[in-house]
Amino acid sequence: MPLHDAQAFVLRTYKLAEADKICVLLTRQSGKLRGVAYGARKLRSRFGSCLEPFTEISLTYFEKDGRELVSISHAEIVRSHYEQAAGSVVAGAAMSYMSDLCCEFLPDHEPSDTVYRLLTATLDAFGEHADSHALVRYFEVWLLKLAGFYPDLRRCGRCDLPTSADADIWLSGDGAPQCPTCSSGRGVRVTPAVRSTISRILAEPPARFAERPPPADHLDRLAEFSLLIIRHSLERDLKSFALFNRLRRDTETPQP
Ligand SMILES: [Zn+2]
Repeated sequence: MPLHDAQAFVLRTYKLAEADKICVLLTRQSGKLRGVAYGARKLRSRFGSCLEPFTEISLTYFEKDGRELVSISHAEIVRSHYEQAAGSVVAGAAMSYMSDLCCEFLPDHEPSDTVYRLLTATLDAFGEHADSHALVRYFEVWLLKLAGFYPDLRRCGRCDLPTSADADIWLSGDGAPQCPTCSSGRGVRVTPAVRSTISRILAEPPARFAERPPPADHLDRLAEFSLLIIRHSLERDLKSFALFNRLRRDTETPQP
């Protein structure tokens, strides 16, 4: 049974049997994997609070031949965003949605240092006054792009002509970009302003993007665009997408 050391984010956890836990981990060294932590739900577990979502840990695990689940033998906290997620419903919903995107769109056992750094930098940018709307949209664009699901907006998907940076483009139901002629104005409209927001996201680190966020309606259009890609790729919606957007709007416009 080979032992492995790794650094990882806990993305999700599930209860198993009486006292055990299954964790979905994003490891830096081996990509996404599922591990079981025996006894992790016991009162005096040797894992303590290591295996809570949004915690970065260093861990040791071993693989058994032919088993899908690895076995986690040791874990220590590197840093935790769990309290932050628990302390703010909006930040908590944002992080849950980010976890869901990782769980759904990243392949198992395919390490990507870029994805790992994206998650680290985005979680680090969640501070007391951080714009969670901007950070979630930032993460969404990058994750879908790195996972290979983000369309190339520089060419029309139908006539293959380059799209003009100054003109609207439209996305058909399958997320393919179309020029004004091919789309006849049907589909989700992507304005030049939204495209320049996407360019900023691809050029800036998350903290800087969230410090000078674009107007909320640009971010809303970006969310529509991402929703289209998610829906088309998964053939269903992610509940955490809608939950984050609802909680965010509720806190932005307090009821009298
Ligand atoms: Zn066209």
